[in-house]
Amino acid sequence: MYFNWSQKQQQLYEQTLEFAEYNLKKLLSEPVYQSFFPYSQWQKCGEIGLLGLCVSPQYGGMGLDALTTARVEEALGKICEDGGFLFSVAAHLCACVMPIYEYGSEELKQAFLSSLCSGKLVGANAMTETEAGSDISHLQTLAVREGDEYILNGTKSYVSNAPIADVFIVYATTNPAHGHMGISAFVVERNIPGVVMVNL
Ligand SMILES: Cc1cc2nc3c(=O)[nH]c(=O)nc-3n(C[C@H](O)[C@H](O)[C@H](O)COP(=O)(O)OP(=O)(O)OC[C@H]3O[C@@H](n4cnc5c(N)ncnc54)[C@H](O)[C@@H]3O)c2cc1C
Repeated sequence: MYFNWSQKQQQLYEQTLEFAEYNLKKLLSEPVYQSFFPYSQWQKCGEIGLLGLCVSPQYGGMGLDALTTARVEEALGKICEDGGFLFSVAAHLCACVMPIYEYGSEELKQAFLSSLCSGKLVGANAMTETEAGSDISHLQTLAVREGDEYILNGTKSYVSNAPIADVFIVYATTNPAHGHMGISAFVVERNIPGVVMVNL
């Protein structure tokens, strides 16, 4: 077996190091970014494909496999001082973009993926609740079907990217009798009525 990085993987790694060195390295030392999310850097990450690494090019991603994705993210981590920004990138990609890419309907993919991969939209994942962290079978958020719609009712915590996210993957119980098997994921846009952000 051949365990070395391929030429393509190595090239992507080096390109990402160079990108991060030029665009992300000094993020923390810029006073404006100490209290605001660096949207221009986010856009640049989107432009070079970092926000859709493992999504097919058909939906605006780079079409990389999981190992190459991890290698590229490692390059970002090596250079970028702001771990919070990298956490935002990873939460966006792994916990919002990928669930839509892997499990979403074609309609959802068409509606969201290219904007998420390009950096136009910021994604987040809302699973955890005060009484349901490791044990998600205790999720209190309920999703009840009314006609063609689901009404979601509940409160989430620890949602990375929440203050700036446009799109949330929200996990809710659809069938309490089935515990963790009775949970479904919903794509919820920030601007729909009823979504309220609370800073505790
Ligand atoms: C930086 C950060 C970012 C996060 N981002 C998100 C996010 O974007 N979206 C989101 O939904 N959540 C997010 N979370 C929440 C995270 O997923 C939860 O904190 C995690 O699921 C653990 O839940 P908890 O904090 O309620 O701890 P608990 O589930 O209460 O666990 C407390 C302790 O008990 C241990 N424990 C739990 N169950 C068992 C068991 N059966 N046997 C033995 N030990 C056990 C755990 O290992 C842990 O040490 C984030 C958390 C952090 C810290």
